[in-house]
Amino acid sequence: MRWSLNLGSIGGTAIRIHVTFLLFLIWLGAIYYRQGGAEAAWQGTIFIVLIFLCVLLHELGHVFAARYYGVPTRDVTLWPFGGIASMERMPDKPSQELVVALAGPAVNVVIAAGLLLWLGSRLDPANLTQIENPAVSMAAKVAGANIILVLFNMIPAFPMDGGRVLRAVLAMRMGNARATELAATIGQGFAVVFGILGIFYNPMLIIIAVFIFLAASGEAAQAQLRAVAQGTLVSDAMITEFQSLGTNATVNDAADALIRTTQTEFPIVDGSGKLRGVLTRDAMIKALKERGPETPVLDVMQADIPTVPARAKLDTALRSLMQKGRPVVGVTDAQGRLIGLLTVENLGEMMMIQSARPEIPRGPWGNARG
Ligand SMILES: [Zn+2]
Repeated sequence: MRWSLNLGSIGGTAIRIHVTFLLFLIWLGAIYYRQGGAEAAWQGTIFIVLIFLCVLLHELGHVFAARYYGVPTRDVTLWPFGGIASMERMPDKPSQELVVALAGPAVNVVIAAGLLLWLGSRLDPANLTQIENPAVSMAAKVAGANIILVLFNMIPAFPMDGGRVLRAVLAMRMGNARATELAATIGQGFAVVFGILGIFYNPMLIIIAVFIFLAASGEAAQAQLRAVAQGTLVSDAMITEFQSLGTNATVNDAADALIRTTQTEFPIVDGSGKLRGVLTRDAMIKALKERGPETPVLDVMQADIPTVPARAKLDTALRSLMQKGRPVVGVTDAQGRLIGLLTVENLGEMMMIQSARPEIPRGPWGNARG
């Protein structure tokens, strides 16, 4: 990820800080300094650093729980609004997703409980909510912040952990796609309530509400795509009627093909039928402008296009299409020859068709192919 600094790694997971987070710390320090001088600036900055240490430990809770189920995490990045752990996927079993989702907040429960025990009788419960009061001890403030972190994260709406807990519990009863849909609807209900409360009490809530609302619909669409993909073979979803270009074609030939067809990506196929690369419309236009029409397509194509066998499950292809950010995935026969293409658009069409056919059972527990 660009604009983030590597702090090191814990058990194969890189810990990173986004540059905006450092700017956020400096900005906060300056505000505290203006209000109460150097002492306040130090206190305030140390407090925020401690909170983010708790956020980091929270994310590592998710990371280690996921690793226990065999799901690795590339990195954890700290942003001003919290931490993001980029797990490669969620574990497939709902019970495992439940454990992974709960592992984060559980860390904050342990931290808060530990601090409260340590503070013991010195603690005035009223202090827990006075995070911004400089007279309250650091330990009490950190304990209070951890309690807030738990409550906020357990709101049953995506992308909060509570949303995943809700989805996992529902998925134990009804299948993943339906559970996600229902959990997303419940989450959007919460978002609407937040939005209304925000109008009357705190504008921050409106921002949170919009954020939750969008995240919920994104999550639902992704789950639907996954559910469709799990029950389908690549050969059912691929484009089979397309124009390809030979290895001796020029950008001019490609431009002709662009006009004649509705395609925007053209595979370059060699004499033995193997995919050598893909020329996108954007790359074609750029090459026409900068290098001229006689430029060989081999010089300007994107060469590292992933391929999948036609008999593979669609979700494997989906993963390489989304993770690697490629315009297309090539589909090959048993001899490795190109016989089809998969694009984001044609997967979208596949989804629309599947959802318009209610009689075909969908989802990982009841797909048409079993
Ligand atoms: Zn979490």
